[in-house]
Amino acid sequence: MRKVLNFSAGPAVLPDEVLLKAQTEMFDWEGSGISVMEMSHRGTQFETIMENAMTDLRDLLELSDDYEVLFMQGGATSQFSVVPLNLMREGKSADYVCTGQWGKKALKEAKMFGKVNLVASSEETNFYDIPEFETWDLDPQAEYVHITGNETIGGVEFHWVPETGEVPLVSDMSSHFLSRHIDASKYGVFYAGAQKNVGPAGLTIVVVQRSLIGRSDRLIPSMYDYDNFAKSGSMSNTPPCFSIYVSGLVFKWLKRQGGIRAIEEKNIKKAELLYHYLDNSDFYQTFVSKDCRSRMNIPFKTVDQNCDIKFLKEAKINNLHELKGHRSVGGMRASIYNAMSIDGVKVLLDFMRDFEKKNG
Ligand SMILES: *Cc1c(COP(=O)(O)O)cnc(C)c1O
Repeated sequence: MRKVLNFSAGPAVLPDEVLLKAQTEMFDWEGSGISVMEMSHRGTQFETIMENAMTDLRDLLELSDDYEVLFMQGGATSQFSVVPLNLMREGKSADYVCTGQWGKKALKEAKMFGKVNLVASSEETNFYDIPEFETWDLDPQAEYVHITGNETIGGVEFHWVPETGEVPLVSDMSSHFLSRHIDASKYGVFYAGAQKNVGPAGLTIVVVQRSLIGRSDRLIPSMYDYDNFAKSGSMSNTPPCFSIYVSGLVFKWLKRQGGIRAIEEKNIKKAELLYHYLDNSDFYQTFVSKDCRSRMNIPFKTVDQNCDIKFLKEAKINNLHELKGHRSVGGMRASIYNAMSIDGVKVLLDFMRDFEKKNG
């Protein structure tokens, strides 16, 4: 284990093994004599890196041929407009569910492209829960339904998949991508920026059902066009080569861990450890409803604000970094992505217990 434990929400911790491998290969990738950063993206060497990353990711997700994997750029935020550009035909509408700040942003951006309906929101209850599906005001004519699978800021996660019937379901999975098993066939599109749970910033992963590609009658700039990315194997221009390479190393690492189901079990254990302790403490508080607590991002507070500040200061001295909550929420937030070990969570818990003893 490294000296510092990094609980950042993103860019976030990467597995030691992956960083070490990248370090070893930094100056000379597999005898090529050059760094991945220096390679032509059209050369056979990078072609291999690209193909392996795509194949490993498809394996991890158990994707059928009905789905296309696209390696795009611009972050998850760019998908807030890329999704409506590709999926929402002129004059049609889309349904949005807001369970946190990211969903709100996605909705705002989509409004540039047509009619957008807010069909369910938990803003009134401070985004502490997910509105029950029965209350969603869904439009059967909508082009798609957009949800945020895991709200990184508030720590609210879907542990169920909305059944939207014929209407394609779209999910922003940025902060829980590859952290849990999903049935891809339930989704029309899901996307994630790499820097939360996959690799370095720069790569944006989009998984899209083939039948939805080319659906839009709009003029779409080629860099935002799913069809262009699908046809060119995400290589119509220079891709974020290094980010794809490191993400590919993470996919291999995930496979060595036993794949998604194995990592999910580990993630459940880590989250349970933290929530169990928080639930049994009078000193710390969490706010999100139990049935939609995030396994990845766990916000909490102590009894008062000054104590939170003290917590963060002392945590840092103890090599527990990036625990500050998002400015809109305050307090603390522990992001415990795939690459955070169970031992890492236990170190955090020991510190929290100790801090409670001294300040509770
Ligand atoms: C971080 C995050 C985003 C924004 O990602 P960028 O890559 O910075 O654009 C969007 N949605 C969710 C759920 C996130 O966690």
